[in-house]
This record gives sequence, structure tokens and C-alpha cells, in this order.
Amino acid sequence: MRAYANGDSTMKQHAPQESCPCGTTQPYEACCGPYLSGELVAGTAEQLMRSRYCGFVYRNEDYLLTTWHPQTRPSRVRFDERQHWLGLSIRETHPGSDDDREAFVEFIARFKVNGKGHRLHENSRFKKIDGIWYYVNGEFL
Ligand SMILES: [Zn+2]
Repeated sequence: MRAYANGDSTMKQHAPQESCPCGTTQPYEACCGPYLSGELVAGTAEQLMRSRYCGFVYRNEDYLLTTWHPQTRPSRVRFDERQHWLGLSIRETHPGSDDDREAFVEFIARFKVNGKGHRLHENSRFKKIDGIWYYVNGEFL
């Protein structure tokens, strides 16, 4: 008896052809994957926002902490085992007062807890340090 009925032992958390959890039509490997694996650094606040959402979906604590602004970074990220992320939609992205070094991304993330649907509507603030974007904090809307 094999462990997998279909005999595919290379099965991963996400199939290559599956579109990225962040809501684009691209596969994860061509979208947020390279950011979470550390191959690339997000070039825009929106890219960072999308990749951090994937960080929550895949419970990648290291990535979330690495991309958190040092001034607001927690010592660890606690994931709720009951929380299942369903999708992300970016509403608006706009620069902050500090032009190209600050940006805001308004989004709605949907998730389920114990079969019940919820929406997280937040305006997240991002700041750049030495050319790299970091998540600072968010305001619930
Ligand atoms: Zn993505």
C-alpha cells in the first residue's frame, strides 16, 4: 500500500499551476513565491502586501518578521489554527506624505473561522529603509 493513492510523492502545499493566493492570475512561483523564498525583494508596497498575505496563508513566520518594520516588529507571529484565508483584494494604493518612502495599501482579506466567513478591511502603512519596503502598521476600516 502506498502512502498516496495517486502515487504522487512530489505533491506540495500548492500545485504549480494553481494561481497565487494573493488573487493574481499568475502561479505562485511567478508571483509571490520568489519573495517568500528570499530570491527577490518586493519592489513596491503592493507587492509586499500581496506577498505578506501569502506569508499568512502559508504561515511563514520568518517572512512576516523579516518584512516587518523594526520599530513595530513583534517578537513572534501567532497564527490562529482555525483561521483559513480565502482571498485578498487590493482596493487602493497611494503614496504617503514622505513620497516614495511611505505608502498605504487598502485591502480586504477574507477568511473563515469554524466555517464562518469574516472580512478584514485594513489600510496598511509601509515604509522604505535603504530601498527595501517594510510593513509598519495597519488601521482597521
Ligand atoms: Zn501573489
